[in-house]
Amino acid sequence: MHDTLKKVFGFEEFRPNQEDIISKILEKKDVFAVMPTGGGKSLCYQLPAKLMKGTTVVISPLISLMKDQVDAALENGISAAFINSSMKPQEMSAVFHDLKNGDIELLYVSPERFAMQGFLDQLKTLPVSLFAIDEAHCVSEWGHDFRPDYLSLSNITKLFPDIPVGAFTATATSRVQDDIISKIGLRSPFTVRASFNRPNLFYKVKSKRELESQLLEFIKEHPGEPGIIYRTTRDSVSELADLLSANGIKALPYHAGLAAEERKKNQEAFNRDEAAIIVATIAFGMGIDKSNVRFVIHADLPKNMEGYYQETGRAGRDGEPADCILFFGRGDIPKIRYFIDQISDDQERAVAMEKLNLTVRYASHNLCRRRQLLEYFGEHYPDENCNTCDICTGMVEKIDVTVDAQIIMSAMSRTDQRFGIQHIIDIVTGADTKRIRELGHDNIKTYGKGKDKNKKHWRFLIDELLAQDAICQDGGQYPVLKLTAKGNNILYGREEVTALKREETNKRRAAGRDGRFAPYDELLFDKLRRLRKEIADEQQVPPYIIFSDKTLHEMCRYYPAASSDMKKINGIGDVKLERYGASFIKTIKTYLDENPGVTIPEREAIVLPVIMPRKKTKSETLEKTYDLFKNGYTLESIVKERGLAIPTISGHLEELIRDGRDIDMNRLVAPAKQEKIKEIFLLLGTWQLNPVIEHFNGTVSYDEAKFVRAYLQRNP
Ligand code: ADP
Ligand code: MG
Ligand code: ZN
Repeated sequence: MHDTLKKVFGFEEFRPNQEDIISKILEKKDVFAVMPTGGGKSLCYQLPAKLMKGTTVVISPLISLMKDQVDAALENGISAAFINSSMKPQEMSAVFHDLKNGDIELLYVSPERFAMQGFLDQLKTLPVSLFAIDEAHCVSEWGHDFRPDYLSLSNITKLFPDIPVGAFTATATSRVQDDIISKIGLRSPFTVRASFNRPNLFYKVKSKRELESQLLEFIKEHPGEPGIIYRTTRDSVSELADLLSANGIKALPYHAGLAAEERKKNQEAFNRDEAAIIVATIAFGMGIDKSNVRFVIHADLPKNMEGYYQETGRAGRDGEPADCILFFGRGDIPKIRYFIDQISDDQERAVAMEKLNLTVRYASHNLCRRRQLLEYFGEHYPDENCNTCDICTGMVEKIDVTVDAQIIMSAMSRTDQRFGIQHIIDIVTGADTKRIRELGHDNIKTYGKGKDKNKKHWRFLIDELLAQDAICQDGGQYPVLKLTAKGNNILYGREEVTALKREETNKRRAAGRDGRFAPYDELLFDKLRRLRKEIADEQQVPPYIIFSDKTLHEMCRYYPAASSDMKKINGIGDVKLERYGASFIKTIKTYLDENPGVTIPEREAIVLPVIMPRKKTKSETLEKTYDLFKNGYTLESIVKERGLAIPTISGHLEELIRDGRDIDMNRLVAPAKQEKIKEIFLLLGTWQLNPVIEHFNGTVSYDEAKFVRAYLQRNP
């Protein structure tokens, strides 16, 4: 396996899970794998195709992608072909001829073939080694991309009982997962759910002010880099593409209103590095395997986090650093709300609203972006600091809001925590309302303490305090604000609280991604990139299929000027070395002759930027809590016994549950309540606590929701 990895694909090591998956396939077991975009799913069936006797049949939904995939395989010296409806009968019979002769290792077919008896009959006569179903979520109605054609795959294990089947997808909730496994009829498959974390992506939110100049500034700082800019409407797509073009930037539009021909042409130009930038609605993306997208910008607020994750996921498939930037302006919220208001089904509308709220939360709160994204998909991100988002790297300005927070909290506390958001704001801004006068709230000490700032400011701060669990909403139809343990600490000056600065005032240049690239020779990169483009045009394939950016970057660090050095570069297998090694070596040699000052580093001398090590959990204290709980102590009595704070102990219990330790859930949350909480987590499709708490209007506590969440995450 390792040999093939190096010889055919030119890679030194497997990405996470690849090795396990491939081993199982070689043992002829079914597999089911959820891996994020760019995780390297193709290799999981392409490598076995090379090693197993017979033909590996890949079922893939997009005809437009098949050619690129086949070209990429051919470039690595894998004999590959495709069969789909775009072909002439003669072409098709030529492929069948090669198949019969055993000349094809990898065959791509579209799913609807499996509904055709003639095709199945032909297939039966061939030695098939493996069926690999790519984008397997398309088989499920519960997924976001159901394709009826995929249902013809549901007989595959019955028709071909002796052939292993692998199903691969980047998106599957546990419901979709079960659905895929049963629809395809996988036989106790070896199942992998990879982490959805994409460590090479840098997440950043910028406040949207003068969008056009902000975009121009960013693009000019990253000349020639391929990027996608998403916009909501067709008009805004066209306008922005025009504006960029007028500024000398090669940008093309893509949206469903364009003729199919033009869409195809623009996508093709982007794919082939002819237009650096594509400005698009979310219609663009499926069917983009381009590995060197260096940034994805959302110029408008996305509707939900699923979409945002999928769209940003198109950046940096090659594993090299890439940026995901969201331009956030509160003005976008009512625009999306308008569309949500048109939804007639009450429940659907409520869910859409919740989802929108979560994107607003993502953009406006003081929490690691990566953690928020992963939590949305039910993944707990263990590190304190991700080092690759604007929050964790301190690129956003945080301001101390402790004093303002204390004003709010004091107003809450002086009115016995019995009032809702609006009334508290009225108190601190000194509003002269009938209700205030009747309740005598104009006499309390905090009345009017915050009248120098407007209501919006106070509303923003309350949202922020809710998001940070410093306060929570509690109670039936008219929720009131309550202080949490953390809130009490803030009110009594034991803890400080910060918030994002609402408007970005200083134009500090973002260090961002540039600091995370191990340095490479940019002049040489430009030359090699041009050579790659020439070769790609000759072969009529996209440039990234010849060599990825990662491969070129490495050449621009080590200057391989001999075949033996070239072979050590990531992404160069035997076939590519033979085909392209000489021309790249020649260009590098010429460059070195012209630039005698260049020093060539030792391989080991280049150190990639280090990510801070993960903070170790204090396991001893965890075990103490565990022992006490097992000995019948309640949460409260553990708190007393150990003299620690409630949130600390409940945090321990949460972690123990998530670790799958033997914790009796019924002692923490009443069984019926557990069920209700579970239902809401699944319904809202998020793992964030606040929306769930808010749903129950305070009848469920944070701790209860936290425990059930941990349990669900452990037992999906
Ligand atoms: P997916 O289908 O999961 O989105 P791909 O199969 O398209 O991802 O792979 C994404 C990129 O990662 C490709 O450029 C591929 O060549 C590269 N890649 C895959 N496996 C490895 C590996 N083991 N080492 C280095 N690069 C890899
Ligand atoms: Mg793929
Ligand atoms: Zn972070």
